Order: sequence, then structure tokens, then C-alpha cells
Amino acid sequence: MDWPALKGAVASCTACSLCKTRTHTVFGVGDEGAEWLLVGEAPGSEEDARGEPFVGQAGRLLDSMLAAIGLRRDKYVYIANVLKCRPPGNRNPEPFEVAQCSPHLVRQIELIQPKLIVALGRFAAQTLLNTTASIASLRGKLFRYQGVPLIVSYHPAYLLRNLPDKAKAWEDLCFARATMAELKTADPPRS
Ligand code: URA
Repeated sequence: MDWPALKGAVASCTACSLCKTRTHTVFGVGDEGAEWLLVGEAPGSEEDARGEPFVGQAGRLLDSMLAAIGLRRDKYVYIANVLKCRPPGNRNPEPFEVAQCSPHLVRQIELIQPKLIVALGRFAAQTLLNTTASIASLRGKLFRYQGVPLIVSYHPAYLLRNLPDKAKAWEDLCFARATMAELKTADPPRS
């Protein structure tokens, strides 16, 4: 599937019951040739209303975290979620929903071919790394998803509830920025 086909497949998806309660599907946003791919969990109410990921309170924190390392959501960055539809009441994604929806994310990653993936929170990390390990045990390490380097950090919504862990998220971002710098030195962009 190319981008238009994938976008169409997501927009018309009825593979799980979330299609019955969604207002909009939330495909993803950003640079389709991005070096950075940030993966969250699922749309919340504001994302469902607007059809764009991370536009609520957690999104504003994510934007300021990106700005702190010199990034913007529309330049060199793509933002997507594991689920493209909002779970009612912002409940956790069900395993069936993740199984039905994650092929969309898999194809997004294949099309973007990012240099680095940052998995934000448990659902993104566990889905992409096919593990049940905790965020605490996964952060601070460099993993690979289908050959693409992957770093795990806290979900911004978690950070809003657990402010002391912001310092750890900052460490993760610095680790990600240093990893990207190394990746670019090893494989500089073609001019
Ligand atoms: N939380 C997520 O994981 N994704 C969003 O798009 C918004 C909140």
C-alpha cells in the first residue's frame, strides 16, 4: 500500500468496534520522509475531534519537549499512534484492537523509513518491541524495530500526572538526540 491507499484504508477501517464510536480516524501527522518517528498510544478526545494526533494537553507537552531538542512536529518529525481511533473514555487499548490496527503503523514505518523511532509509553513500546516489559526496564537502551533504532520513553500524558519523571524523559530525549547525531555521522544525508 502506498500513502494514499493506506490513508484511505485507515479512514474507512471497520476492523474493530472503535469505528462505531470514533468521530475521526487519526492517521498521523508530519513529514512523510521524517528522520524522527514518534509513536504514541491512541487518540484522546481532542484528537478524535480534530483528526490529528497529540493536539490536547499531552500534545502541548510533547511539542515543548520536541522544541527543547530543536525539533518541530512538521519538520523532520512524524507523529503516529498505535491505534488510529479513540478508545471510549480514554480506556487502554484492547489486545484485539492493537492486533487489528498495528499493521497500519507497520506500513507507516515502512513508508517513512525513519532513522530513529521514539516509542512513547507502554503501548507503543510493547507493540513495537513485542514485549511485556515495563517502560522503566526499557528506557535508556537502544533497541531495533525491523532494523530501525528505537528508544523508549514515558508517554507525555503519564508525565503530566507524574511530574518528577519529567527529568527522566529529558534524559531519554537527550539520549535520542545523541543517538540521532551518531546515526547521521555514520550515514550522512545525500546532498
Ligand atoms: N495520547 C496519545 O497516545 N496519542 C495522542 O494522539 C494523544 C494522546
